Amino acid sequence: MAKRYTRVIHWFRRDLRLTDNTALLAACEAAEEVVSVYVLSHWAKEHPWTGTKRQLFLCQCLESLSKNIDHLQGALVIREGEALAELTKLINETNAEAVFFNQDVDPFGKKIETQLAEHLDIPVHSHQDSSLHGPGEVLKGDGTPYRVYTPYSKRWLPLPKTSPGGKPKTLRSSLTVNSLPLPTLEHWQLDSDSSDCLEGGEKAARARMREALSSRISTYDSFRDVPSASGTSRLSQDLRWGTISIRELYQNARSCGSPQYLKELAWREFYFQILHHFPEVLHCEFNPDWRGLPWFTPDEKFEAFKKGETGFPIVDAGIRELLTTGFMHNRVRMIVAMFLTKDLHLDWRLGEQFFMQHLVDGEIASNNGGWQWSAGTGADAAPYFRIQNPWSQTKRFDPKGDYIRTWVPELIDVPEKSLQAPPEDGLPIARGYHSPILDHAKERQVTLTLFKKHRAERS
Ligand SMILES: Cc1cc2nc3c(=O)[nH]c(=O)nc-3n(C[C@H](O)[C@H](O)[C@H](O)COP(=O)(O)OP(=O)(O)OC[C@H]3O[C@@H](n4cnc5c(N)ncnc54)[C@H](O)[C@@H]3O)c2cc1C
Repeated sequence: MAKRYTRVIHWFRRDLRLTDNTALLAACEAAEEVVSVYVLSHWAKEHPWTGTKRQLFLCQCLESLSKNIDHLQGALVIREGEALAELTKLINETNAEAVFFNQDVDPFGKKIETQLAEHLDIPVHSHQDSSLHGPGEVLKGDGTPYRVYTPYSKRWLPLPKTSPGGKPKTLRSSLTVNSLPLPTLEHWQLDSDSSDCLEGGEKAARARMREALSSRISTYDSFRDVPSASGTSRLSQDLRWGTISIRELYQNARSCGSPQYLKELAWREFYFQILHHFPEVLHCEFNPDWRGLPWFTPDEKFEAFKKGETGFPIVDAGIRELLTTGFMHNRVRMIVAMFLTKDLHLDWRLGEQFFMQHLVDGEIASNNGGWQWSAGTGADAAPYFRIQNPWSQTKRFDPKGDYIRTWVPELIDVPEKSLQAPPEDGLPIARGYHSPILDHAKERQVTLTLFKKHRAERS
């Protein structure tokens, strides 16, 4: 079939794979030759929320992508700067006739898409790729967006899903185009111990997906809330960076017999659409009732929180897992986030930023949603009076203390009972470990008063 274009550009963004990449497949179908480019942004230098482990993962993804593109008779061009300026230069250098890319889900990425559409004088083809359903596809009967997860998921789950496409056979890019070298951490003057982090790149991600599909997802409903078990799929960073396709994952996961797993995928898209329709959540509480809450000023307790030295074993274990691996189990994310907002009475935005800095799967929409849920301020959030008790959560979800002992070696010999309640004498439960920095029961009351008073003052 005759091709529409001789040469086009595919701009890689959060879709760092060749398999079932919607815009890339469209580009290959439309053009004789496809020039592949990734534009490194200056965010890494300027933005505090881009952490070392995320950047390392990105480097590995780009290295893997570059190798895979080489096999398809192409070459990955690396540029750095503003996307509009860099793509404009590349268009001039290559005489490309169109640009293809997959749409982003956050307002920062969308702003760039608008700039391209306005300023490039060649056709711009943008595709919806990172979710099964775009934000405009799942609306209430009256055409307005959902604000509550359960009705959203009831509508989302039965909707027909697109099947995954294949992998391009060739990119046939004959031009030699100037490129920066593949980035390494030194490029950003960063240094990281990666020994406990998952490897980035399509090959590693596909191996993880195979493992998840063959074991973790079929037992997901039983083990997903047990942080010491490998009970969840561990694919969040791959969905975030697009090293696996959501369509491929969904299609294969459907036959694993875990309705709950599919519902988790719906949570991801629920938060995507919240951010799309209500971008103000990045700055303020989704629920207007809770705007202007008098959060406390961060002090040395916040410093202890960030180091995993609160004297609350489950909280410290979570933070230390995060600092070591760039990941934290979902159950523990909730406990930790409630601890920051309900025990330390600190603004959820501080936690949101801290997580974004350290999570390899840092996803603006899900992270914001998770923090606002825990703070009680978000869309379909836990009500403010539902405050998780870190001690009883430990008893319930880490009864033997296996998770805690993995991440807090000081507690290796401490009996499990001591991990499930504050020390009665107030003394450290193990040498080198901290006494609890606060009394949960007392701080719970402070939170209830704070929220109630705020509501009364506003009404
Ligand atoms: C405070 C807080 C912050 C969070 N920040 C992020 C974040 O930055 N990035 C991120 O991907 N997830 C975030 N989550 C959601 C969740 O913790 C992670 O998606 C999950 O732990 C990833 O592990 P997994 O891949 O093994 O998940 P699984 O349990 O195997 O779930 C499968 C996939 O479903 C999606 N998912 C699962 N739970 C949620 C959820 N509650 N919200 C949105 N998507 C979900 C993820 O893409 C995940 O990979 C956050 C949750 C909380 C409470």
